[in-house]
Amino acid sequence: MIENIDDYDTIFVGYPIWHGDMPMIVYNFLESYDFSSKTIIPFCTHEGSSLAGTVQKIKNKLPDSTVLNGLTVRGNTAQNSPDDVESAVDNWLNEIGLPFKDDKSKIGEFDLENGKVLLNSGYEMPILGIGTYTLSDTQAENSVYWALKDGYRLIDTARIYGNETGVGRGIKKAIDEGIVKREDIFVTTKMWTSDYNNGENAIQASLDRLGLDYIDLMILHHSQPSNDVIAYKAMEKAVKEGKLHSIGLSNYYEPADFDRLVNAATLVPALLQNETHPYHQSTEMKEHISKYGTVMESWYPLGGRGHTQMLFNDETIKNIATEHGKTSAQVILRWHLQAGNIAIPGSSNEAHIKENSEIFDFELSETEMQKISSLDKDERFSTY
Ligand code: NAD
Repeated sequence: MIENIDDYDTIFVGYPIWHGDMPMIVYNFLESYDFSSKTIIPFCTHEGSSLAGTVQKIKNKLPDSTVLNGLTVRGNTAQNSPDDVESAVDNWLNEIGLPFKDDKSKIGEFDLENGKVLLNSGYEMPILGIGTYTLSDTQAENSVYWALKDGYRLIDTARIYGNETGVGRGIKKAIDEGIVKREDIFVTTKMWTSDYNNGENAIQASLDRLGLDYIDLMILHHSQPSNDVIAYKAMEKAVKEGKLHSIGLSNYYEPADFDRLVNAATLVPALLQNETHPYHQSTEMKEHISKYGTVMESWYPLGGRGHTQMLFNDETIKNIATEHGKTSAQVILRWHLQAGNIAIPGSSNEAHIKENSEIFDFELSETEMQKISSLDKDERFSTY
């Protein structure tokens, strides 16, 4: 008897295949509780019959549950090394969108050597990406393609930028030319506020425009208390269906507003994308979201359109850049990564895109980090 079955949204059901079927006791288990609205994940060992149609049998028994693809492993270990089994389990967890194999204590820790951070969703995310705000379809296609050639693995777009199709074309070109594989890259898009009551369609439309069968991260573009929870729940459903891997938020500037959404959600946001740069360092929000294992991603990392020169010409930043033989843009981007902000500088200029990627061959000292941290004016450039 499981008294607290209501506490579980996701239930792994494991069994051996006996004579081409699940043991009767598993059928009894499935009949004994109300599994409607829960996610059921079957896995089994077998000696030749594989899943033996048991996933379909579970689906028939539980028509109101979401039953995910099952894993089957041959019981005879002589034919399966532990490494084979482990990688089969990893692949399966990735496929069904439950990839947690890493040490959870590493969530949110920036790995500057490999350029990645582990999200609270269990997925690894690159910490430097290409931003595509204001780019046309053609510009986005080129920028994404150049960026992937330069070693970027993170791409940021949004439905409201009107360039998801171009982004998708740039990705396809790079994949077709063998520069990257789909699983090597991390694609982020955003749901626009006017789509919040129609999230399921908005997600499918973004998938179609991007030409992808899953999106690595989808975020709500803006806080909108009237219906952002509805939109977030549509994203949670899409995670269960494997259409989205991770989900998060953008433009939540008050801890209480972030908590409002988290308290209504099942999945904790993996990431918050807010305006963040040396003059607006988002210190309070970063500290707040870190309690949830949620990471900060900086939009306007270089100060954004119209304000980049102000940051590039800041004396402190300029001096540090000269010291390292780097540009101000590179110093600012390196500061973001060392400060624990994912950065997505935007550009349609091939040389700038390359320049912005060359930030893994130097390090800012603690003193330099502190000097830049002390530039914070808590001043946003955008009123958006
Ligand atoms: P940014 O801070 O990345 O600055 C971009 C500007 O800097 C552009 O004018 C570009 O030409 C210039 N630039 C880039 N690299 C340079 C270099 N090496 N030398 C000189 N100039 C350089 O601003 P952004 O692109 O607006 O923001 C970054 C990304 O964040 C966007 O592209 C978009 O993907 C995302 N974004 C999200 C939101 C949101 O509401 N969530 C809002 C704005 C932007």
